[in-house]
Amino acid sequence: MISFEEAVKTILENTKTVGLEKVFLNEALGRVLAEDIYADRDNPPADNSGMDGFAVRYEDIKGATEEAPAVLQIIAESKAGGELVKVEPKTAAYIYTGGLIPEGADTVVQKELTKVEDGKVFIFQELPKGSNIRPQGGDYRKGDLLIKAGTLLRPPEIGILSSVNRPTVYVYQRPRVAVLTTGDEILDVGEPVEKLSQIRTSNTYSLYAQIIEAGGIPVIIGFSKDTPEDTERKLSYAKSCDVLLTTGGVSVGEYDLVKDFVVKVLGVDILFWKVRQKPGKPVAFGVWGEDRRKLFFGIPGNPVASMVVFENMVKPALRKMQGLSRVFNPVVKAKLAGGYRRKKGERVEFIRVALELADEGFVARPFGKQGSNILTGMVFAHGFGIIDVGVTEVKDGEYIKVVIFDKSFMDGVFDG
Ligand code: AMP
Ligand code: MG
Repeated sequence: MISFEEAVKTILENTKTVGLEKVFLNEALGRVLAEDIYADRDNPPADNSGMDGFAVRYEDIKGATEEAPAVLQIIAESKAGGELVKVEPKTAAYIYTGGLIPEGADTVVQKELTKVEDGKVFIFQELPKGSNIRPQGGDYRKGDLLIKAGTLLRPPEIGILSSVNRPTVYVYQRPRVAVLTTGDEILDVGEPVEKLSQIRTSNTYSLYAQIIEAGGIPVIIGFSKDTPEDTERKLSYAKSCDVLLTTGGVSVGEYDLVKDFVVKVLGVDILFWKVRQKPGKPVAFGVWGEDRRKLFFGIPGNPVASMVVFENMVKPALRKMQGLSRVFNPVVKAKLAGGYRRKKGERVEFIRVALELADEGFVARPFGKQGSNILTGMVFAHGFGIIDVGVTEVKDGEYIKVVIFDKSFMDGVFDG
């Protein structure tokens, strides 16, 4: 059995990026940029004003005071979007934020420091030369590299793309991720319960939602019974996808057919099965398809195992497929409230914890029941506290690392 680290390394080493597509700017949020973006012009394109006031020549306001103000004839006006105007010695121009600095002017005096009378402006103090001018190219120069390929597009990047006149942009495609739900006992949402032993699926739809959060396109290819015929038929529906996720049927039970049939039907090359982790030990991983570009994850059926395996193993792969260089969930250190004990330390364990921000930093509270079938522990949690291999006890107040899958505990710091 391999370690968690070896498993993740194997996954990422075998994960290749998907193709590119061109999208409109309004659809680019959350996508990963696949080209470098350069500036098409200087920004600002010319010197302009950072204030409403008067554009003057520094020479003309030098030495001005309350008692002996500079008095300048107003001869022009410069508004944002207006024409380039000119000032002569002993004259000034009205100027507004964003207005071009007139020819001959080198300083802007804000309105509050002036008084206007009979077409003249009175300026009551000297300002340093160049005051309130936003210089040409002060933000960036034509030809500068503004956003690198591989960047996740957030609202600021979208703003830059629009300001450099890019109505469309190349991004990585979203990987298509097939989900096959297996198990004789499993019911889809909406199906009537006929027997006490039947279980309503949670994995199908928690995986669906996790795929969307990870930037993929989920494709529910069906529910298969634990029979060779049904497993074979439903697996064949995965052929057009980039990634196949199956849930259930990867442990050693008699009816666990998935591993054998992905090999037979899709030609998957299984690279590992079973990882020294809890939950999620019986996870399987492989590659298949042309150039071995497609991935297979055989995810265990227990609902918590399914979600944990997705966050720690599938999500990084989906992010890498989309060209991202930073693929893992964020990790913070937190004080473990109440401590944690276990009998054996052979496997790394991911315990469900809720996080709070206290004066001393993050505090992690473990959910009372840590079984891999306890889905309510996931509802309670924001992250997985890592109990490392070899560790059987963490004392109350000791620090552990927490992998965050839900950042909502950080919402509303200003809400009181
Ligand atoms: P398996 O991995 O198929 O041995 O399943 C392990 C446990 O997870 C069993 O108790 C299953 O009933 C349960 N399980 C399997 N698939 C699902 C699912 N889609 N939703 C909820 N529970 C499941
Ligand atoms: Mg099963």
